[in-house]
Amino acid sequence: MGFWWRPFTTLFGFGLVALIFWAAGGQNAALKFSVVVLLAYLFRQLWQQARLSRWLEKGGSSPAPRDSGAWGDIFYRLEKLQKHQIQSKSELVSALGQFQHAAEAVPDGIVILNQQDQIEWCNPASRRYLGLDCVRDKGQYIHYLLRQTHFVDFLNERDYSKTLTCRSPANRDVLLTLQLVPFGAEQKLLMARDITELERVDAMRRDFVANVSHELRTPLTVVGGFVETLGEMDKPADADLKHYFGIMHNHTKRMQRLLDDLLTLSRLESSDNAVAEEQVQMPDLMRELAREAESLSRGKHTVRVEIQSKAWLLGSLQELQSAFSNLVSNAVRYTPEGGQVTLRWFEQEGQPVFSVTDTGEGIASEHIPRLTERFYRVDRSRSRETGGTGLGLAIVKHILTRHGARLDIQSIPGKGSTFSAMFPETRLIPSKVEDQKPRLALVK
Ligand code: ADP
Repeated sequence: MGFWWRPFTTLFGFGLVALIFWAAGGQNAALKFSVVVLLAYLFRQLWQQARLSRWLEKGGSSPAPRDSGAWGDIFYRLEKLQKHQIQSKSELVSALGQFQHAAEAVPDGIVILNQQDQIEWCNPASRRYLGLDCVRDKGQYIHYLLRQTHFVDFLNERDYSKTLTCRSPANRDVLLTLQLVPFGAEQKLLMARDITELERVDAMRRDFVANVSHELRTPLTVVGGFVETLGEMDKPADADLKHYFGIMHNHTKRMQRLLDDLLTLSRLESSDNAVAEEQVQMPDLMRELAREAESLSRGKHTVRVEIQSKAWLLGSLQELQSAFSNLVSNAVRYTPEGGQVTLRWFEQEGQPVFSVTDTGEGIASEHIPRLTERFYRVDRSRSRETGGTGLGLAIVKHILTRHGARLDIQSIPGKGSTFSAMFPETRLIPSKVEDQKPRLALVK
């Protein structure tokens, strides 16, 4: 009713006055009165329209024209709307400003890239780490400015779960991890984090472990040697003493194995250099590994070898042999007497695979993701009894990562496990003639 009330009363009033004119002065007088009123009404509408248009032309920043009646209402509502918009806009601008200040204050380098990898925005830290200039480089393709091959490969790969560790192009002393985070309409955030300090502490830890292991190895070998000699001597013939010497000897052996594994791990961790690209003759290596399994098993297990591919493998013979030996040794150690251990070399969808299957105790699924952690053991005493150090699978994982391979573990408790080393296609060498045999060396 509120909206119609005003026009209705105006029209009603106008009709009433026109009727009075008609009654008093006849039809002509009523017509004249109507024309005058309509002209006045039209003039007023045009004038108000002109006022509105002038106010809008000024951007609506000044107060809206004042008026009574319907136009006054319109002016009032438009002014209110305009004020609200101005306030929202200023709130948005201030939020944007705050966000920009926060992004500028972030100590990590942040670069916003569009769909074509052109720079849309970058913060001041990206100048320090990546040598970018927020103003000069806006709109530039990032790979024109950061030209390192490994960065370009990383960018093109579009694998957002990966990070890249590299030296800063702006300062070679700074070590960075780069990460791409997708957002919005195919835009990306390139984040650069300084990990120089972390890496320094990690290097200190690695050096410390390597040095301690190295320093302990010689005295331990000497002590172990004497303990063994004493235990084998006729005198003292005391059975108890011989028993104690036996225990001491076993423990020194265990410590030696532990130190050897720690040294292997530190060597793998600190080797920045690329993995050796030797042509490893897998069929021969498989037979060597089978002999190793048989000697470890001492006839207690059935060892089977299935060589389903004649292909060779590209990689470091010493490292690969160490990794495969660890898997074979585990299969024998965690399979009870009478069980079976199967070594397989095959190709799966073009990928070379080395696997070891056992019919042993198996592993419950909750342990599987943690098996490659250092010193993680499902059953500590079982590992010790069988001469384990808890570092075998950590070594395997390191070696496989260096070869671009991954370790797949399938296991059913009580039935057995399969550990598969899955290599990338690029490491496969189609079968070779026999006389090109590379040197084989047993490393464990
Ligand atoms: P360890 O020297 O203790 O064997 P590893 O790193 O080689 O250390 O293995 C870690 C743990 O994984 C082992 O302690 C064992 O519990 C489990 N494991 C490894 N291989 C097997 C297997 N073939 N069958 C059952 N458990 C296994």
